[in-house]
Amino acid sequence: METIVVALGGNAIKQADEIGTNEEQFKNVGIACESIFKLIKEGYKVVITHGNGPQSGNLMVQQDLGTDVVPPMPMDVVGAMTQGQIGYMIQRTLQNILKKNNLDMPVATVVTQVVVSKDDPDFKDPSKPVGNFFTEEEAKKIVFEKGYILDPKPGQEHIDKKMKGHVIKKVKPTANKPYRRVVPSPDPVRPAEASAIKKLVDSQVIVIASGGGGIPVVEDRNGILIGIDGVIDKDKAGERLAEAVKADIFLVLTDVDAAYLNYGTSEQKQVRKMTVAEAKNYMKEGHFLAGSMGPKVLACIRFIEEAKGKRAIITSLDKTEDALNGNAGTTITP
Ligand code: ADP
Ligand code: MG
Repeated sequence: METIVVALGGNAIKQADEIGTNEEQFKNVGIACESIFKLIKEGYKVVITHGNGPQSGNLMVQQDLGTDVVPPMPMDVVGAMTQGQIGYMIQRTLQNILKKNNLDMPVATVVTQVVVSKDDPDFKDPSKPVGNFFTEEEAKKIVFEKGYILDPKPGQEHIDKKMKGHVIKKVKPTANKPYRRVVPSPDPVRPAEASAIKKLVDSQVIVIASGGGGIPVVEDRNGILIGIDGVIDKDKAGERLAEAVKADIFLVLTDVDAAYLNYGTSEQKQVRKMTVAEAKNYMKEGHFLAGSMGPKVLACIRFIEEAKGKRAIITSLDKTEDALNGNAGTTITP
């Protein structure tokens, strides 16, 4: 029985044109779970991970707006809350589909911390914008009231010391609200719950884990875990999850049906198959954008090279079956 780790993109939970109501999110999760159910029916052992960008963004706004009424929670706790939220949505939906099909299989969500290195370069120059956009006045007010740092120089000592992403940067110079909070996006090392997850998978539990890239934690000298403000890329974290469960296949489901060369130009061309060496070359040539397709391809390369996976696939939800048969999507092989 092959083990497959499915990484669900943001659109599997909230579509770009939606505001993200409870009903909308359950509707999208329903569509995603129908696709995942097909994999289960075909006999794959399935492990699921997912993004949490819009959900954590909204929850952070709620933390900010409610400060005078209830104490705000920091980013690591917000990450845990969204893992619970989305995990519940997927869990309940999938359980009900299994029930309707008379399949008796356990489903469980694991709140997952992902260990990152405290020496990760991103702590010295945070790169991931999160939450609302601000005008210059708003940005200065937040800096004054909350002690955030405005447009620091990379490596500025206090960022490093505090290990907190309390930084505001000008991220869209041409917009009238050009400022945004940025937090570190460190490289994932391993899920802290790797062994618990592996045991569940080995005992036939359908596991949802590492949601939103996992809650970033660093280890101190004595191995004590400390939660930090940051966002780990969910595809890179998904690959570490695939490594932890010794998956055969890593399936990245997003809103494009494949990785393209010359994407967005009149010359764009789908890549049906590429070896790790070819993928590295295309990466070097700049075909896959940082922050979207780039980390997906990188995660697939790692899955083959470091996790010794058989194949990694990038496609959209509706093309899942075709892509597994090599008739759609992009497959990366050794
Ligand atoms: P997800 O939530 O699934 O991680 P992302 O927005 O991060 O979604 O990544 C998918 C996006 O990557 C696509 O919508 C597309 O705009 C972008 N993209 C960048 N480069 C490429 C490429 N070379 N081929 C296909 N899509 C690309
Ligand atoms: Mg993404």
